[in-house]
Amino acid sequence: MELRVSPAVARLRCSKSGLEVPTGGFTRPIGLCPCCPPPGKPVVVEYDRDTVRSELRTLPVAERVTRGLWRWAPFLPVQGVPADYAADVGGTPIVRHDRLSTSLGVEVLLKNEGTNPSGSFKDRGLAVAVALGAACGAARFALPTQGNAGVAACLFSARLGLPGCLVWMPDGYQGSVYHRACELFGGEVRFFGPNIAAAGRNMRETLAAPLAAGEIVDLSTFFEPGRLEGKKTIGLEIAEHFGADLPDAIVYPTGGGTGLVGIWKAFDELDRLGLLDRAGRPLPRMVSVQSANCAPVVEAFRRGLDEVQPVASQGTVADGLDVPGAIMGHAMLRVLRDSGGTAVAVSEDAIVAAFATYGRLGINAGLESAATLAGLEALLRDGTVRRGERVLLVNTGSQLIPLSKKQA
Ligand SMILES: [Zn+2]
Repeated sequence: MELRVSPAVARLRCSKSGLEVPTGGFTRPIGLCPCCPPPGKPVVVEYDRDTVRSELRTLPVAERVTRGLWRWAPFLPVQGVPADYAADVGGTPIVRHDRLSTSLGVEVLLKNEGTNPSGSFKDRGLAVAVALGAACGAARFALPTQGNAGVAACLFSARLGLPGCLVWMPDGYQGSVYHRACELFGGEVRFFGPNIAAAGRNMRETLAAPLAAGEIVDLSTFFEPGRLEGKKTIGLEIAEHFGADLPDAIVYPTGGGTGLVGIWKAFDELDRLGLLDRAGRPLPRMVSVQSANCAPVVEAFRRGLDEVQPVASQGTVADGLDVPGAIMGHAMLRVLRDSGGTAVAVSEDAIVAAFATYGRLGINAGLESAATLAGLEALLRDGTVRRGERVLLVNTGSQLIPLSKKQA
């Protein structure tokens, strides 16, 4: 089996202008759009509905995967991945938590992403991004990271037998659990600057020629279309699990926002195929949770903007929420408003307290996940979520990551 772009991919579209983006026959990796001011805006994949329908019925048996991410092959942009590539990615449990439901007076449902192979939901997006880049001829991958995305990129590069992923981290991450995990999976780690934005600029300067030639793919959040497609599978799994009885609200800890946009894209694609069985009820309200120390999406939502303006981060214990800008901010804000949802900022103390609560209850969840519980408590206080409603918290990673970090 050879990696190839799925025949169901109909076209690429700029997420901002809506204009179609040339595919170039997928002979080289897809980056940001050429239509918006440099560096461009994220490009999204659109599928041919008839091909997806027919693939759902007829995908050759040899390629039918019963476990893991490629169980969703008809909805993914790349086919022909090795059987052992992502069989352990996704398929994460959704459970109703009785004690939290009783104490909060709402039905609390948890989607636990900590069971993914590198310990976080980043595995979904990077599995698809690496496979799609390789299918388009990329020889190697690179990204700036301050955490799990780098680890996942290194892990999937290793699984395809590619040269080690090139990882840029801020100086402060030397010796961190992320640094060591990237190296374990064959990554070559460089350190630059005080934050991920500075590290990313240095990476793009250093690798300007191979990036421009398409030999190396920039896996930064939303800089290529695969990560969004992988994150979309969270939404496919939610729809499959709940059927016609979707939750009233989905609370998502928001850094770069691929999951927020991805879950909504999954609902939209299923709905257009007539596969979203929701018995005429509205879709879940999507809720974005950020740390009050770094809350650009919350700020833009409150001000009624249609783009997210960068903020100066004050730093947060939840590394995944320390994202001061958002290249896909326009799409995140659209999802929050189209779904009738909202955005809420929680204090560092509330995140730490919620992490301790999860610990007392024996729940496998990291600090970003704890922010969703803190967010739910805030929404109950201000009446945005009402008693008796059903709320799904997306718990994006394992508690082992923040716990390991403290020893670094
Ligand atoms: Zn554009």
